[in-house]
Amino acid sequence: MKFPIEKFQELRTPFYYYDTTLLDETLKAVKDNMQPNWHMHYAVKANTNPKILSHIVAAGFGADCVSGGEIQACLDAGFPAEKIVFAGVGKSDWEIELALLTNIFCFNVESIPELEVINELAQKHGKVARIAFRINPNVGAHTHENITTGRAENKFGIAWEDALDVIQRSQQMGHVECVGLHFHIGSQITEMDDFATLALRINELQEILDTYGIRLPNVNVGGGLGIDYETPDQNPVPNFKAYFDTFRRYLQLHKGQQLHFELGRSLVAQCGSLIGKVLYVKKGSLRTFAILDAGMTELIRPALYNAHHAVENITPHDGESVYDVVGPICESSDVFAKGVKLATTIRGDLMAIRSAGAYGEIMASQYNSRKLPEGYTSEELCCQQ
Ligand SMILES: *Cc1c(COP(=O)(O)O)cnc(C)c1O
Repeated sequence: MKFPIEKFQELRTPFYYYDTTLLDETLKAVKDNMQPNWHMHYAVKANTNPKILSHIVAAGFGADCVSGGEIQACLDAGFPAEKIVFAGVGKSDWEIELALLTNIFCFNVESIPELEVINELAQKHGKVARIAFRINPNVGAHTHENITTGRAENKFGIAWEDALDVIQRSQQMGHVECVGLHFHIGSQITEMDDFATLALRINELQEILDTYGIRLPNVNVGGGLGIDYETPDQNPVPNFKAYFDTFRRYLQLHKGQQLHFELGRSLVAQCGSLIGKVLYVKKGSLRTFAILDAGMTELIRPALYNAHHAVENITPHDGESVYDVVGPICESSDVFAKGVKLATTIRGDLMAIRSAGAYGEIMASQYNSRKLPEGYTSEELCCQQ
């Protein structure tokens, strides 16, 4: 990736930089691989920066929200309410009411008590809520254990064995209408076999429901497609074709059934980098540390999930050396990379922490009373005088 380093010199570090040309290419690659009865709802929790949202709205995608705040942010950004779905194990009453009053497309319901509350609140407002049940397919995804969601022991969704019962129960209620099935097995999944397994489980369930005369108009397979954190420049656009082909090949839809997706990370991760400045190069007895002004407060993924991000010194230099790249926060886990070979580094250099467009800026905190980072796009930096 090329960075406008001259422009960066004028900006207060640390900040997020988004290459919107790459973002648009990525969104186009998604669209080019989709079919007419398929619908993409961007999982907004990956990045809610309004500058990013405007590109996703322009691509014609809907949104997958997990809170009332996200629903509001999406409406403000111009997402049509009828393309918004609302997931989450713990929806508050005000969030359910916001979703009802703005007429979103569908609630993805995760428990019977939640179903009852939605039915009650819909009745109070004279509405009928469209719902889908999030069914836990008990599929283990090959990813970090903190980001699998589709196994029986996870807190998410309704147990596989209870699917028929909850659908039939909802059909007895006056203010909910069950319009689909919803699934989401985890995040940063790079083995297409996991999605194939999910598709086959969905077929199984649909067959059982069929014998009870239950045919729902929508199937939502969630998100979770992973990206290449190791070598982002080799795979700047994820392999959407392989992902979508897996569902084309294995998932059997009824005639007229609509298929929904909720990709988050794979749409926005590669276009974003966290840019930090080198404050000090400190030679310890065993290692050399490059200490940045960016840390876990701006990008918590390494500290939270042991996640790997490629790190680059983007200030041109001759020579190379090995560094531990660390942040300034008073936590031992505030480390971006250990023992990485980088261009010879000095105070004042700019470093890019790559593939940080998803679960980066949105997870920033003010721990240590730090300022939240700004986010700049390539398009705005290139047009500034
Ligand atoms: C987080 C989430 C997604 C998106 O996951 P990615 O790995 O970012 O694609 C989709 N659906 C639900 C319900 C989620 O919670």
